[in-house]
Amino acid sequence: MSRDIGMTTTIETPFPAARYRDVVEDRDFPTVRDYARRTGRAAAGCYPVYGPFELVRAAGLLPVGLFGGGNRIEIAHADSRFQSFICSIVKSTMELGFQEKLGPFKALLFESICDPARNLASVMSRNFADQKSVYVHLPQNMTSPAAVDYLASEYRRVLAELCAVTGATVTADDLRANLRSYNAMRAALRDLYAFRGRRPESLLTGELYTLTRLATLMDPDEVTPILRESLAAANEREDRPKDRIRVVLIGAFCEQPPLELVESIEESGCYIVDDDFMLGWRLFRRDVPLDGDPFVALARAYLDDSLHLSTKHDLRVPRAKAIVESARALKADAAICLIAKFCEPGLFDYALYRKAFDENAIPHLYLEFEEKMWLYEKIRTEVETFVESMLFR
Ligand code: SF4
Repeated sequence: MSRDIGMTTTIETPFPAARYRDVVEDRDFPTVRDYARRTGRAAAGCYPVYGPFELVRAAGLLPVGLFGGGNRIEIAHADSRFQSFICSIVKSTMELGFQEKLGPFKALLFESICDPARNLASVMSRNFADQKSVYVHLPQNMTSPAAVDYLASEYRRVLAELCAVTGATVTADDLRANLRSYNAMRAALRDLYAFRGRRPESLLTGELYTLTRLATLMDPDEVTPILRESLAAANEREDRPKDRIRVVLIGAFCEQPPLELVESIEESGCYIVDDDFMLGWRLFRRDVPLDGDPFVALARAYLDDSLHLSTKHDLRVPRAKAIVESARALKADAAICLIAKFCEPGLFDYALYRKAFDENAIPHLYLEFEEKMWLYEKIRTEVETFVESMLFR
């Protein structure tokens, strides 16, 4: 059995990602409810971009990516709680609460990524008392000599707040066991991303997106074998590269575009060889060390060993420079900036990316999206025109 996925490629099914396509879009969180039924454990909704997921799981809660309502939730109540010019994910996350979709969650985790996220944390806390809102103050100064100690102590506070919700007592060895589980999951995601960069014709970004999203919705020990199985299945494929351009896609690190939009971009003649979808769940370049103080190890991983991110203010590595280097290393022909409407961190960075792309003669295309999109023809036409301008120049 096969399915046509666009202009030029036919992929054999079933592929592991195909089994989970509907699951990852379902805002009734079937994987989380199933996990609760089997284990008796509740979950914590983790708003993007990055949170210390190991601490959440050590406290007895399943960390779950809370990426708003997507295009399956009608905004009926949340609009009136926010100003007009704000990204969609803030409103649709609150709408999940009004539509009683947050039942599986005992706690909600937010981080200091931007003003809308900061406001959302307090508005959620006032409106939904059944879910304890826990706010993580990530350091704004990554290079201060006090940053590691500060972040480690912040993580201790966060764990204490989570344990107050569940009644758990957590030892250093419990934390190391959780570091080990997430190290394994992130390593599997790193391997999938590296494979897609080498052979994008054998692992489509729509599929990789589904698998990464699944990793935000399941226990790491249960999802890692699925990720490994997917890599093995992709490796078995024998698709030959088509006449497409290779692009890096950046800007959708928080609010997520509809999966159909990602697929439309690919089907318009692109091989996406890198992206920043759900980047917080695969943020670290290497495993977090298991020796020493686990809080300090986790803090160091964020401060010194994480990927570039628009909500992380690391002046040591200019993000635009890092994107250009990544594009070159992956032999990308072009870049596509896919940025959520009204996302300030994304739009501020776009100004820097654009300058760097121009200076380095990297063709680039700017696209704006909202999670609640249904029509992709306009974007598809823009991408096709961009691709043709490169293929036939
Ligand atoms: S989409 Fe952008 S502005 Fe909105 S919460 Fe996320 S980082 Fe903040």
